[in-house]
Amino acid sequence: MVMGATGSKLEKALGDQFPEGERYFGLENFGNTCYCNSVLQALYFCVPFREQLLDYHANNKNTGEAEENLLTCLADLFTQISSQKKKTGVIGPKRFVQRVKKQHDLFRSYMHQDAHEFLNFLLNELADILEKELNDVKGSPETSSPSEKNANGLQNSPVNGVKEEPQMTWVHKSFQGILTNETRCLRCETVTARDETFLDLSLDIEQNSSITSCLKNFSSTETLNAEDKFSCDKCCSLQEAQKRMKIKKLPHILVIHLKRFKYIEQLGRYKKLSYCVVFPMELKLSNTVDDADSEYSLFAVVVHVGSGPNHGHYVSLVKSHNHWLFFDDENVEMIEESALQTFFGSSQEYSSNMDHGYILLYERVSGNC
Ligand SMILES: [Zn+2]
Repeated sequence: MVMGATGSKLEKALGDQFPEGERYFGLENFGNTCYCNSVLQALYFCVPFREQLLDYHANNKNTGEAEENLLTCLADLFTQISSQKKKTGVIGPKRFVQRVKKQHDLFRSYMHQDAHEFLNFLLNELADILEKELNDVKGSPETSSPSEKNANGLQNSPVNGVKEEPQMTWVHKSFQGILTNETRCLRCETVTARDETFLDLSLDIEQNSSITSCLKNFSSTETLNAEDKFSCDKCCSLQEAQKRMKIKKLPHILVIHLKRFKYIEQLGRYKKLSYCVVFPMELKLSNTVDDADSEYSLFAVVVHVGSGPNHGHYVSLVKSHNHWLFFDDENVEMIEESALQTFFGSSQEYSSNMDHGYILLYERVSGNC
């Protein structure tokens, strides 16, 4: 059988370095479900997240007729992988995929889907389920309004704590950070700050750039003028203002989405930007409010393969116990860390290399939390 052969090849490659208790399983593709498989592998190798899910499964399996939802399906899947007798092989995430399609119209079709949209949907969904469970335990009759989400995965939260602080679930504890949006009125100099939580950061990209420069641009000062003036509360009128976005609280797991799909007005459609954007193994972040440096270490990359937004393929690169692995649906292979640079993108617009880092997952290794 082909699957077994692949497995043994990986086991041979790792030899006695095969990590104790670890499982490397490919995921079956159920027709354009690579967007889902690539994200699942990245999350499986996000060890704090995996451990929480395994705990969740262990604590809930005896509670009887628990209603099936995305969280229980994902916890079942991760448990199924981690408890395999064999060290390598292939698993079909069928129930999970069916659940995703049941839950969300967008993912129901066999069309090519966006891995970032999926990750954002999944994390928000898991957080909502956990929040609801926490509220049920508290017995609070309060019905919270569905939180507003925009394309960037940002949720608006009130500044003055008018609303009760939302529950911090382990999804929030892992992935949630806080951005602060500062606007300075150029007439009265009043600074208005508005906080927003995020589960991932979507960054605009430029040719021959790096994550550090993209983050710098993200936090750069923008002037609001002409058609786009700021409504200043103190001046009670529209005024020119300066706006900038800073990271107020860094998450433990930093998810960075590179905006490689850009709507081109003249073409009337989305175009993939194959720009070269260097992502370092170790990332130092300095655009935080307190300007303290924090270090992050790369552990997963979701890669988009192909030239356009509506077709193509997703694979993922994952770091596990100091080895890098390449997950392509059913297939799992070892790769050298140095091979990661082939996923930065290309300096020329037309290149035969169409494999591009699309979502980066970093884990915090130092700095105050
Ligand atoms: Zn003003």
